Amino acid sequence: MNKSRIGIVGAGIGGLAAALALLRRGFDVQVYEQASELGEIGAGVQITPNGSKVLMELGLTDEIMAIGTRTQGKDNYLWNTGQKSTFMQLGDRANEQYGSPYLTFHRADLHAMLLKAVLALKPDAVLLDKRCDGIAQTAAGVQIRFSDGSSAEEPVLVGADGIHSRVRQALFGPDSPEFTGCIAWRGLIPAAPIEGAVNLRGGSMWLGPTAHIVTYPVRQGALLNFIAMVDRDDWLSESWTEAGTVEECLGDLAGWHPTVQLMVRNIAIPYKWALRVREPLDAWSVGRITLLGDACHSTLPFLSQGANMAIEDSLVLARCLCQDDEPELALRRYEAARRPRTARITRTSAEQLRRVHNPELADPASAQRYIEREWASQRVDDRYGWVYGYDAGTVAITQGLELPPAVAPASRPA
Ligand SMILES: Cc1cc2nc3c(=O)[nH]c(=O)nc-3n(C[C@H](O)[C@H](O)[C@H](O)COP(=O)(O)OP(=O)(O)OC[C@H]3O[C@@H](n4cnc5c(N)ncnc54)[C@H](O)[C@@H]3O)c2cc1C
Repeated sequence: MNKSRIGIVGAGIGGLAAALALLRRGFDVQVYEQASELGEIGAGVQITPNGSKVLMELGLTDEIMAIGTRTQGKDNYLWNTGQKSTFMQLGDRANEQYGSPYLTFHRADLHAMLLKAVLALKPDAVLLDKRCDGIAQTAAGVQIRFSDGSSAEEPVLVGADGIHSRVRQALFGPDSPEFTGCIAWRGLIPAAPIEGAVNLRGGSMWLGPTAHIVTYPVRQGALLNFIAMVDRDDWLSESWTEAGTVEECLGDLAGWHPTVQLMVRNIAIPYKWALRVREPLDAWSVGRITLLGDACHSTLPFLSQGANMAIEDSLVLARCLCQDDEPELALRRYEAARRPRTARITRTSAEQLRRVHNPELADPASAQRYIEREWASQRVDDRYGWVYGYDAGTVAITQGLELPPAVAPASRPA
């Protein structure tokens, strides 16, 4: 493509990864972010080999190896007895199997790393206090209107504005996510009070009949990231920043193993959010506008792929825009390359809920049989191999792809 400017709404992990991928390919980029200060929530994020491969291709190999924590592997634990079994081996094995590492990060560190790389290429790439309120296609491109009354015009626009995306709403109207009947608790735990009781070099998954817990170390084991997903139908807010209390979280995990109670008691502020599921969209692009990351494929967290998919999107989008002179065609190619994979991941992730919350886990004898069956190494490879083995740098973007039809002008935003 004639390397013109690309506007991006949203400076989260997806928006910044896209900015970096595009700047590295010679595009000019302008990112519009609603926040007055850039940062991230206090939580961990797992970057699986499919995501780290992209970050390596974006020139960040040394940075991710320095900032990320190389997880040795994951074990399963039974919710009440604490009985342990192997879930998956990682460490060197991830590199051997996929050619890139499995790493965990503090989200703020990952975000800061991406921001630094973007600003090194274009110091004024990110404009703050720019909350997108509306968009309109124009003859030359796209007009973006902001809540401060200002506006900007860009030849091409990418909506990377997250789960409640304003750009998505402008293109396709409001959505109606379905509540799963499950909420998530998250928190960071300092290492000192749990050292010895909890593995601070690898991940764990605690499995129970109506809840499960995922933990993994970040910052080389100085902190443990904790997420508990609990069947509960009285909390409907889909926000990542609403605080609950330790007592309430303990109440949701009553009867769980003492190690679990110890972890929860050491979370300074546990946050809770309702898990809602969205059907994959039928289209992501209208004319010169497209979507990226949670804006177009928010997912339940059961495969840890939300950020990874956003990072994959960024590289495929940049490759498509490089290849085609016609931006509308490039965006359709991007969508054609990415929609089937992201739909499969979001659906598989939703299906995973009944595997990790299963009545067979209530009784220790049936639970052990269930874990041995469902987490047999071949089954684990079948479930995760296709997710981790994807290479956004080489996946086909032209041949063998049926392009989605262009969305009719009549349905374009006014
Ligand atoms: C606790 C937790 C743990 C997770 N763990 C994992 C994990 O282990 N692995 C994984 O792959 N994924 C994980 N995810 C999911 C992952 O974090 C998201 O999928 C990812 O952040 C999506 O990135 P994004 O850039 O699309 O959206 P976001 O990170 O939500 O960024 C959107 C950006 O757009 C900005 N914005 C929003 N609206 C506007 C507007 N109108 N105008 C301008 N700017 C706007 C926001 O301020 C924000 O900066 C986790 C999520 C949570 C909450």
